[in-house]
Parts: sequence; C-alpha cells; structure tokens
Amino acid sequence: MGNIAILCSGGDVSGMNPAIKHFVEYAKAKGLSPFLVYDGFEGLIDNKIVPASYKDVSGIINRGGTKIGSARSERFHEARYRQQAKDNLEALQIDKLVVLGGDGSFRGMAKFYEEHGIAFAGVPSTIDNDIVGTDYCLGVDTALNIIRVSLDAIRDTASSFKRAFVVETMGRDCGYLALVSGLTSGAELTLIPEIAYDLCGYKEKFKKELLEGRRYFLAVVSEGIKQSSQEIATWFEEEIGVESRVSVLGHIQRGGNPTSRDRLMAYRFVHFAIDGLLSGENDKICCFSDSQLNYKSIADVAHKEHHIEPALMELVESTTLHC
Ligand code: ATP
Repeated sequence: MGNIAILCSGGDVSGMNPAIKHFVEYAKAKGLSPFLVYDGFEGLIDNKIVPASYKDVSGIINRGGTKIGSARSERFHEARYRQQAKDNLEALQIDKLVVLGGDGSFRGMAKFYEEHGIAFAGVPSTIDNDIVGTDYCLGVDTALNIIRVSLDAIRDTASSFKRAFVVETMGRDCGYLALVSGLTSGAELTLIPEIAYDLCGYKEKFKKELLEGRRYFLAVVSEGIKQSSQEIATWFEEEIGVESRVSVLGHIQRGGNPTSRDRLMAYRFVHFAIDGLLSGENDKICCFSDSQLNYKSIADVAHKEHHIEPALMELVESTTLHC
C-alpha cells in the first residue's frame, strides 16, 4: 500500500520512543512499509533512512529520548538540500512522513510539502507545551512528573535546613511547566513570564509566616521570567532573612522513562497521524483539544501566539500578590 517514514525534529521528549514503536506496528497493520529516518531533517538530507522491523522497536517503550535521534538542521532551510531530501525519499518511494517535533519543524515540513508534495502529519512534541491549537504536547506529562519528584525531594532538604529554595524550570517564554508544577507542589511562590509580579507584595506575608514558625519556602520559577533565579534567591536572603539556594533543573526535565499518559498519547497521536495520511490529510498537525484529537492546518498552529488556558492562569493569578 505504500511506504511511510517517521522522524524526530527539534528538542527530544520522553514519549518519542513509544510513538516510534506504535508507528512501526500500526503502519504494518495497515499494510504500509515503515521506514525510520535517523537524526531528523539532517538524516533526510544525508539519506539515513532505513526500513523498520518489529525488532528495531522492541524494548524501547520505557526509554526516554528517541532511538532514532533528533536534530536541528540549518541545511533544511535551503532549497537545494530540501531537493536532496526529496530525491532520497523518492528513491525509496516514500511519500508520507510522520514528524514528531515543534512548530518550527512543522513550518519546515509545510514548505517541503508545498515544494515537493511529500505528505506529512505533525505530532506536537515539546515539554514546553507551547504549541498553538493543542492542549497537550507529547513529553509534557513526563516532564511534569520529573519536576514533581525533584520538588518533593528539594522540599525535604529545604525543611530540614530552614531554607528558601528557588527551583528553575524550563519552558522558554512559556510558563506552563512552572505554573502546573508550582500549583501541584504547593509552592509558596510561582513566577511565570505571562503574569506580572512584584516581589515586595510577598514580603510582609512571608516574614509573618517565618515568625509563626514556617521552616522553608519553595519558589518555582520559569526560566523566561524577567529576573534571574539567583536574583529571586538574593531577595529571599536580603528581604525575608532566610538562607537561600537556587536549583536549576535543566535537561533532566527532558529525560526519564515516559509516564503512562505519554505512552498512551504517543500511541493515540501516531494512530491518528497514520489514519489522517491514509485518508488524504496531507499537511496537517494532529492536535489534542477539547479532550479529542483533531487535524489542524499549519496556519492554525505555527503562525499564532500561544496562550496558556485562562482557567489555569486564574489559579495562579488569584494568589499573586502585588505591592
Ligand atoms: P523545539 O521547540 O524543540 O525547538 P521545533 O520543531 O520548534 O522544536 P526548530 O529548531 O524551530 O524546532 O525547528 C526544527 C527544524 O525545522 C529546524 O532546524 C529546520 O531544519 C526546520 N525548519 C524550521 N523552520 C523552517 C523553515 N521556515 N523552512 C525550512 N525548515 C525549517
């Protein structure tokens, strides 16, 4: 019935491996011949495209990252390299691609489809959860759980030593990870780029709590806020009078074995992607919104500003204090 390939592009996330596993299984079940593209668009250009068997994807469902590698590709921005990628796919008679990546990758694929007619289905994959049109991106649940475990551990030491801990999460300009983690970890302070804050609004409250016996403060801050995490820690030392430490969680948030939710979402996204490609959805992003999967065009996903769901914002905004 035809040949179909999968690739990962942009930042890796936990959940890509289960997606690759289901891709091979479901493609075969539909009578398609599955191929794996190693190292994203770089692999398309360099012809790192190999037929896949069940053996290639056995034992990977519980592993974070991606077995086939991911990459960012400067060359894919150039028409001559996209032509090379097209020639490689054509030689293998592959005319459908499942792309696990972010909105940048989808923009690249949309251009590739326009130029060369290679159909694609995008699966939103980023821990930042900042892709317009989808409430959920692959990898987010695993990242949130890694952060939760880290915050629980940090709380143990913070309370033993009477300290303030400022824990920095990833997310670039999007505060989703910090927002959900701050709420679900009971943080005293949650700071995200989307919500204006004045630290002086917390001074009186925090000092009073210290006098009443509070032993620690947990602050969850998103990497995109206006101040550095160290500045927040210095504020705790100088204004609240409590010893402080900064903990930048960094790339541990992108790894770890995928949670049940990410495994299930990987299966659902890929299933939906292959079904779409087989029914003539040639250039769509598989989104999850209003609790169901749906196909969206690139214009609805990659060219608009992302906003966190208002109901979630309200949960933090309602407890944000100002001077
Ligand atoms: P992440 O959010 O993890 O960074 P992303 O998919 O948004 O994922 P980008 O670095 O923006 O990551 O894009 C991934 C790759 O997509 C780029 O390295 C490039 O190869 C390709 N790409 C992005 N935009 C375009 C474009 N306009 N034309 C051609 N290729 C593009």
